[in-house]
Amino acid sequence: MSRLAGRTALVTGSSRGIGRATAERLARDGALVAVHYNSDEAAAGKVVAGITEEGGRAFAVQAELGVPGDVDTLVSGLEAGLDEHGASGHGLDILVNNAGVMGGVAPEDVTPEIFDRLVAVNAKAPFFLVQRALGLLNDNGRIVNISSGLTRFANPQEVAYAMTKGAIEQLTLHFAKHLAARGITVNSVAPGITDNGTPVFDMPEVVEQMAALSPFHRVGQTRDIADVVAFLASDDARWITGGLLDASGGTLLGG
Ligand code: NAP
Repeated sequence: MSRLAGRTALVTGSSRGIGRATAERLARDGALVAVHYNSDEAAAGKVVAGITEEGGRAFAVQAELGVPGDVDTLVSGLEAGLDEHGASGHGLDILVNNAGVMGGVAPEDVTPEIFDRLVAVNAKAPFFLVQRALGLLNDNGRIVNISSGLTRFANPQEVAYAMTKGAIEQLTLHFAKHLAARGITVNSVAPGITDNGTPVFDMPEVVEQMAALSPFHRVGQTRDIADVVAFLASDDARWITGGLLDASGGTLLGG
């Protein structure tokens, strides 16, 4: 498939998990993909190598999000990578705001520091990245923001995290209107529990409990989400903007 041939994409947090699957899928669709990571250079390198081996095009970009200067670092790396791959001056066609940190802290134990970190990485960084990307994004471009089913499905251990995902859905809504005149669509995707390769997904009894939340009786796989993002990134999704796509495997239907 080459429906994204000639397009450029940035997927934040694509050294592993949902971001990795998304970067791989967008590259299979023909895009030149910037594989962004924070700490795990080797993992990002493996993603790039895997894409290249399959005949795709990708490069790695490092930047810690949620700290001063984060967007400057990320965009400098992005522009350098585009230059190196002959896409200098092409701009960006697809931005996927995927990088995020979970909370997993009881409401009573959320400290101002924990709260500030969640907001900085999950909400503030995407806002300022989108703001910066306004000058980089091409007309008819795509922004996809990864939210969470937890904006609709209560889990007190994730209250602070879910608040940041509510924020990213607002980012989607308001920027969708702001960018429509340029044909740029902005949408959110809400995954449910998705196997991102962390050790908990190797514990069958825990996975069974998590799988029971979906009427399909399984947890999500990263490609389940990547395929939805790839659809929103494609021309086929040109008439969808400001939306929230439930990619939770029916978790929000209730038990
Ligand atoms: P993950 O496996 O934990 O991977 C997170 C990615 O984000 C990594 O590439 C990591 O880079 C990067 N990252 C984390 N903090 C960063 C920071 N401060 N600065 C820059 N990069 C940072 O994540 P995931 O489970 O696939 O989740 C991806 C997105 O989906 C997140 O927004 C998450 O909230 C959302 N989501 C996940 C689930 C789920 O069940 N997995 C469910 C609903 C929503 P390094 O490894 O290089 O540090």
